[in-house]
Amino acid sequence: HRNLEYGWQQPPETHFADIGGLQDRKNDLRRTVLRPLCNTDAAYERFNVAPPNGILLHGPPGTGKTLLARAIAGELGHPYLELSAGDIKSRWINESTEQVTQLFAEAQHFERCVIFIDEIDALLAGRDDDLHREHAQVVNEFLAHLDAEDPNFLVIAATNRADLLDDAATRRGRFDQQYEIGKPDHDARAAIFRVQLRDRPTTLDEEAYQALADQTGGLSSADIVGIVDDAAMHAAERDADAITHEDLLAAVPDTTSG
Ligand code: ATP
Repeated sequence: HRNLEYGWQQPPETHFADIGGLQDRKNDLRRTVLRPLCNTDAAYERFNVAPPNGILLHGPPGTGKTLLARAIAGELGHPYLELSAGDIKSRWINESTEQVTQLFAEAQHFERCVIFIDEIDALLAGRDDDLHREHAQVVNEFLAHLDAEDPNFLVIAATNRADLLDDAATRRGRFDQQYEIGKPDHDARAAIFRVQLRDRPTTLDEEAYQALADQTGGLSSADIVGIVDDAAMHAAERDADAITHEDLLAAVPDTTSG
């Protein structure tokens, strides 16, 4: 797809198994998104259940919203496009509605695809302001595409500020499926350590995973990923046989509430 302007990617190699914790979210998404979209299940057609056009992931930074979006595209096996708030500002807000039209025209090149938009609040908030008429036009163009019946795309949007989104964005058929992605609980923290250490030599036993989960209360998923990366770096520096519990503990910041 050399002539496409947007940076479409092959279906990601990321899957739900690469995400630690978020078990309830994964189950919900399997039921409400993956199965209806997979189209292999004639029952959905028979009962006229429409797959979603858009879903919204909201929660604090570093909790795995981007990872989850990639994994949804990976599970579906669909081509994938990631747009940041910066892309939206430079391509859409500073340019014109044509860039929005272009995006959805490009989406038509694929039988199905997933579009991830990070920090969607940068687009959807504040458009009622008269000073920003062009911005409002961009938003309206975007929402009009989201309204499409039988679309070939799934838009996954993420935000840390769900409170900034108005009713127009969350109306039926737009981002009416919303999932809160919070900080990991005890079991989820243990699961993230397990996922992150899966392909690295380590001496950790189950007890150590439980202890680490105890010792990292209040941290985000991204913080835990950082701890494992630090510990791996130290193990590599001293050319160790494996990452130890002590390596990981040494990398835990002092401020945890666990
Ligand atoms: P932001 O709101 O800042 O964009 P985010 O919620 O999109 O953050 P990600 O970028 O998905 O967070 O996650 C940050 C890092 O932590 C990534 O390297 C990601 O792979 C890792 N990560 C996050 N959550 C998990 C998880 N549940 N299991 C394993 N790795 C995770």
